[in-house]
Amino acid sequence: MQRDFTSGIPGFRTDLPIPMIPKTGQEPAGAAPFRSGYAAIIGKPNVGKSTLMNALIGQKISIVTPKPQTTRHKVLGILSREADQIIFLDTPGLLTPRYALHKAMVDSAHSAIGDADVVLFMIDATNPGMGREIHEEPALAALRTCGKPVFLVINKIDLVSKSSILPVIASYAENFSFKEIFPISAIALTGTQELLDAVAIQLPIHPPYYPTDMVSERSERFFVEELIREQIFKKFRSEIPYSTAVQIIDFKELEGRKDLIQAEIFVERDSQKGILIGKDGKALKEIGELARKEIEIFLERPVYLELHVKAREKWRKKEEWLKRFGYRS
Ligand code: GDP
Ligand code: MG
Repeated sequence: MQRDFTSGIPGFRTDLPIPMIPKTGQEPAGAAPFRSGYAAIIGKPNVGKSTLMNALIGQKISIVTPKPQTTRHKVLGILSREADQIIFLDTPGLLTPRYALHKAMVDSAHSAIGDADVVLFMIDATNPGMGREIHEEPALAALRTCGKPVFLVINKIDLVSKSSILPVIASYAENFSFKEIFPISAIALTGTQELLDAVAIQLPIHPPYYPTDMVSERSERFFVEELIREQIFKKFRSEIPYSTAVQIIDFKELEGRKDLIQAEIFVERDSQKGILIGKDGKALKEIGELARKEIEIFLERPVYLELHVKAREKWRKKEEWLKRFGYRS
């Protein structure tokens, strides 16, 4: 079957309205049935998956940094609209696993594909990979057999010329049977509305899975940990952030006073602990202050934040620590 790959380009929409199958006795005659389901966002590290989810949900659900592999968990973002509820699974980038933490991250991306009703496979327009690279792309191999509609999402089009996008569309279309193709900019919100509407059409007719005022199933604790981790990613180069896990050990709401949040930051070696704390505790203090500001914006209330650093030898290679930090269930 010949597909129309221009259908996802804003201004080139050609899709026909979906025939509505009324479910007798459930919807008032004439009203579109409610749709609810899961959309997994899959792709290499740093292509902009978390940015897109935050933009679509309209809130900072997933941490975004200029460094790859900052997302370790599968994060759930819920968008409730009048006629549908889309539940996004933002995943860690698919990569070749080198140690146990990587393995857990990749497993989580694969399980997101399994849970999804529609898959958004995202690439970066500034570095799309062409020809052979696409053919050998491991994520596409996994998607070939998943039996779900897959959209190609070409992100960061604000950084490239229009004429460079068409060859990317052509090469990808040659290698995979995408249901639709969307060139977008998650930052400039170009093409994102069209993408949302196309995702919604793929969802099954189903009542909302979550209360409509809920934006995520994750707890405040989880977000506070992520916000601390985000500051560590922003402050340090390579090694340290990737060796870091954050765990909230106490989250006390105090009557008439600010909340007290105590967090432990785990690294893999004493030398890393020294770097993280810095001379006279300066580095840690800076992380604490920046993280506290972000946490206060997120919680919409003032808090005290106490950070402690601990070294746990090679925790990323040890299943018990991965479990403890919630990277393994
Ligand atoms: P992820 O690893 O796929 O989740 O990628 P992130 O969402 O963390 O984004 C990685 C980097 O790309 C960040 O610096 C983002 O600000 C940047 N980014 C994401 N989307 C866009 C976009 O549409 N345009 C531009 N110019 N940058 C983007
Ligand atoms: Mg991410």
